[in-house]
Amino acid sequence: MTGYSQLIQNQKNLFESGTTKDLAFRKEQLSRLYSGIKKYEDEIYIALQKDLGKSVFESYLSEVGTSLSEISLQKKNLKKWAAVKKVRTGLMHIPGHSYIYTEPLGNCLIISPWNYPFQLVFVPLAGAIAAGNTVIIKPSEISSNTTQIIQKIIKEIFDEEYIACISGGVLETQALLKETFNHIFFTGSSKVGRIVMESAAKNLTPVTLELGGKSPCIVDKKINLKLTAKRIVWGKFINVGQSCIAPDYLLVHKDIKEDLLQALIEQIEALYGKDASVSKDYPRIINHINFERLKNHLEEGEVIFGGKFNEKEKYISPTLLEGNWESEIMKEEIFGPLLPILSYSETSEISQYINKLDRPLALYIFSNDRSFQKRLLREIPAGNGSINDTMMQFGNTNLPFGGVNQSGIGKYHGKYSFSTFSNHKSIYHRSNLFDPPLRYPPYKDSVLKIIRFLLR
Ligand code: NAD
Repeated sequence: MTGYSQLIQNQKNLFESGTTKDLAFRKEQLSRLYSGIKKYEDEIYIALQKDLGKSVFESYLSEVGTSLSEISLQKKNLKKWAAVKKVRTGLMHIPGHSYIYTEPLGNCLIISPWNYPFQLVFVPLAGAIAAGNTVIIKPSEISSNTTQIIQKIIKEIFDEEYIACISGGVLETQALLKETFNHIFFTGSSKVGRIVMESAAKNLTPVTLELGGKSPCIVDKKINLKLTAKRIVWGKFINVGQSCIAPDYLLVHKDIKEDLLQALIEQIEALYGKDASVSKDYPRIINHINFERLKNHLEEGEVIFGGKFNEKEKYISPTLLEGNWESEIMKEEIFGPLLPILSYSETSEISQYINKLDRPLALYIFSNDRSFQKRLLREIPAGNGSINDTMMQFGNTNLPFGGVNQSGIGKYHGKYSFSTFSNHKSIYHRSNLFDPPLRYPPYKDSVLKIIRFLLR
């Protein structure tokens, strides 16, 4: 027994009572969640400003707005997604019909990180509620101001037997992981993802793991230079590079490297000014541990542009580094405003370089050449990505979001979230009108011929 056993039992009891399976109940809870967020919108912005120095614009775009639109989407579609679906029944199965019943999983645990500390709780939560589950959420202890406001909202609108928010760090998360859930939805590092999966395996609890990794950004010779630079700079430096799908490094055709460098510098100055430390749109590193980690990388590498920092403010300027495959920075996810630039000569080198590393969460390809785009899509496995843009795939809820192998297991957003938090119960409904004798012994060669024909 851990300190959470009673709470979890209470949530299981509520689930067993059937309350959360009612579609009207689910819709009502999503409305409450929506109103709760709206009510505390200003406090959410203050918390995100304190934790990460995010502007209201960025906080709305990447945290509050993203959460509200996901809640609306789940509410609008849950009846359709929850409906029983009839599927085809083959000749071997007539007379009869086949159906998929979509039912909630039960009691779920959502564990989230600090980098988008608000939306990485509320986006999966919207799917879990829409699908009819009870939920325990465990936000990050590192983004503590945002965690406080999340807890306030959840406490105010939900009974803890239905949705509970546990604050705490490693010890609390590990205590929760000792319990049996019907599903664990984890967003965070690959390192902790392994710990979560190992704990879940003890109880055979299914997991969704939304992890990180090094997301390559490939730049061909045939590009629109200015637009390419602008979209790379935006995707890399939003939230000062502390985004799981930020372009981690550039792999650029050698003939265009110098021109691209100049274009990147121009765009950094256009978006954040000559001194990003005074831009209200340029956030800060989350804490001193991450600041030190990034500063060490900065000192190891050859700075082409930027490289300025202020320890007290946890500020690191947008920085371009000369890339080197052997350097320490190429051995881990950067998760900060440092962009190494590597180059290639032949297209065939690209997948050889990238496929030596763990499978990326996101893949970015900048090129106007369709055969180049197609070739790289075919050669490089990745969880998601964009052609001629960065990060924007995340906002399209018609696209399943997630990683592959080391960058994640499972997908979510929109109907994929609903599906992740649901069990698809497959039911074959046999008619009693007549009972074809084909499958019953004593077996006959003549019948086997018919079966061979039907199953060919
Ligand atoms: P993290 O893995 O350190 O922490 C995530 C959660 O796990 C937190 O709630 C934390 O309390 C808990 N935790 C930490 N150490 C633990 C341990 N030893 N045992 C049990 N629980 C533990 O991640 P982070 O530093 O908060 O976030 C950054 C990472 O998250 C990056 O790798 C980033 O790429 C990834 N990320 C992925 C996505 C995605 O959607 N794929 C989104 C955001 C962040």
